[in-house]
Amino acid sequence: MNSTQLAVNPASFSFQHPLESKFRKVYLTESISLIRGALLTGFLFLLTFLALDYWIAEPDLNKWSTSISAGILQFLALAMLCATFHPTAKKLLPQLGITLGLTIAATFLLLNVFVTTETLNTTFSSYVAVTFYIYFFLGLRFWSALVAAAALFISFVVATYLQGEITDVIIYGTYLLFINLVCTIFLYNHETNCRKQFLESLTLNDLVRRDPLTGLANRKGLAEHLQDMWANAKREKKPLALALIDIDHFKDYNDHYGHQAGDRCLINVAEVVGKAARRPLDFAARFGGEEFMLLLPGLNLEEAEKIIGQLRREIEHLNILHQTSPTANQLTISAGLTHLYPHETSRSIQGFIQLADETLYEAKQRGRNRVSVSGIHQNESLQTGLFKNNEITGRA
Ligand code: GH3
Ligand code: MG
Ligand code: MG
Repeated sequence: MNSTQLAVNPASFSFQHPLESKFRKVYLTESISLIRGALLTGFLFLLTFLALDYWIAEPDLNKWSTSISAGILQFLALAMLCATFHPTAKKLLPQLGITLGLTIAATFLLLNVFVTTETLNTTFSSYVAVTFYIYFFLGLRFWSALVAAAALFISFVVATYLQGEITDVIIYGTYLLFINLVCTIFLYNHETNCRKQFLESLTLNDLVRRDPLTGLANRKGLAEHLQDMWANAKREKKPLALALIDIDHFKDYNDHYGHQAGDRCLINVAEVVGKAARRPLDFAARFGGEEFMLLLPGLNLEEAEKIIGQLRREIEHLNILHQTSPTANQLTISAGLTHLYPHETSRSIQGFIQLADETLYEAKQRGRNRVSVSGIHQNESLQTGLFKNNEITGRA
């Protein structure tokens, strides 16, 4: 999430991609119960309207046009109601909402032109009711509601003009315009507040998933991301490389140079680890204390090993003096790199991390300031958490 994405473009009243699509999803999810209730009410209302029309209205030719128009609206309302329960069709609800609004506008126009039994007061009341419906009950965003309501308003003006006096058009049209204005202001404010709340929740989510000292993702952020990457790699049958990186003799460093110097050191190391996550799906996190984790999806073992080897050298080249380290004069790291194809293994994510941890332990045992690599025999079915079949090679 960056600051340019967060900025709302005042002209289009939208965030930049991909934040806007996330917002639309949240907006829709939050208004789904309201939409369902509104559609069901609309459907039942039209059903009652049709029944009353059948029993009460005088039999004439116009009756068929009324029934057909109401039938079309009912069909649309029902289709939209069903769509709210379908995961893919749900995404089309905003478009369906506009279609419903436009169809109501056209239907009202036809009814008022061809069915002359309605009084102007009744017509006006129905237009007002549907205007409110469009603004507040279809879960439409500001611009969509405005388009549908504008079509409805035009339909009213044309219908009234064709049927009556120009003064009626002016008087009732002004009333309806005023109602539209109030609804527009209300919906604009409502959507602005929703957008603000959405940004606040994003910032809050980001804060709980980020380590405050280094700015990298924390363990919670890592757990969620790792789960996604694991599922993704499994689905696409792609490999996943995971490196656990640990600063060597960091306790000694703290003891000798102080905790604050230790913190500065962690920040510097984190910066290098973060930069090693170059591609969009690479992911760096602070695993805890002086341990970091780097996730590299889609690379083969050699490619991942090259990146982690380079990372180890870069930390060495930071030349952070560490006089009390038995390993070197400067600060160094050890890393355990593991690589597997999630779709070919029965092990869990936890098992994957455990394997990296064991590989890191191996690097420490072999003298620190090195990268140990574990590759797994892909064809052997391994049990989760059991790593008897891995081959571990230590490399400096
Ligand atoms: P090894 O080479 O085996 O990894 O030894 P080590 O001393 O690095 O490992 P050990 O687990 O014994 O010590 C880790 C130290 O990391 C202990 C703790 O004081 C330090 N540490 C953990 N978190 C922080 C932190 O946020 N800031 C600072 N300054 N130090 C931290
Ligand atoms: Mg450690
Ligand atoms: Mg350590």
